[in-house]
Amino acid sequence: MPRYDIITIFPDYFSTLDISLIGKARTAGLVDIEIHDLRDHAEGVHKSVDDTPYGGGAGMVMSPEPWGKAIDEVTSNEIIHDLIVLTPAGKKFDQSMAEQFSKLEHLVFACGRYEGIDHRVTEYYGTQPTFRVHEVSIGDYVLNGGEVATLVMLEAIIRLIPGVLGNPESLAEESHTLTSNGEAIVEYPNYTKPAIWRELSVPEILLSGNHAAIKGYRHEEAIKRSQNRE
Ligand code: SAM
Repeated sequence: MPRYDIITIFPDYFSTLDISLIGKARTAGLVDIEIHDLRDHAEGVHKSVDDTPYGGGAGMVMSPEPWGKAIDEVTSNEIIHDLIVLTPAGKKFDQSMAEQFSKLEHLVFACGRYEGIDHRVTEYYGTQPTFRVHEVSIGDYVLNGGEVATLVMLEAIIRLIPGVLGNPESLAEESHTLTSNGEAIVEYPNYTKPAIWRELSVPEILLSGNHAAIKGYRHEEAIKRSQNRE
């Protein structure tokens, strides 16, 4: 089963991982998630994890020492670890990255706060033979910390692990998933009962029972929607 270790100064953010599909996946033994408080690795009465930036400037930077200790504690030399450093300066997270991460054995999420983590943490683990380091951003905006970004990534990754979704076919036609002809389009619009709601009818063709025609219609709608996003 894949193992995900999350290092944060706000462990409470992750209480939502006990509910819904991820909660069920954990209970069913499909994924092992452990949350670690970075402050357990901090020294002194104040358990401080940050300091002023070299070179000056506003804000505080997370110190490398507690990060090194926390990461070392959750890793060993026996397997390859994928260390994910959340940062708005990282590579943009997308569905294909979610697919790639969903196949990996051990992910470690480093949730930054303040102005981010001392860059030597990324540099150091990048030189270690049992580590691959990924600087990842969930989008071009700045959050207060990496916790919400980690939750976004976990949700996208974990639903791809076999057995997590009740019906694995739901994954096949989803938005941003590569189709058999190599397109990554968004999904067609969906409708359910009643057939008429507030004078709006469900497209006639969906009630026709003609599966080939429905397939063609949905594909066209998916293409239209994909083009309209650009
Ligand atoms: N000073 C940093 C900069 O301008 O690039 C921003 C730091 S931000 C206030 C604090 C932390 O939030 C970051 O270290 C990172 O862990 C997280 N964070 C903020 N925006 C993010 C994003 N778009 N994707 C992933 N993590 C993000």
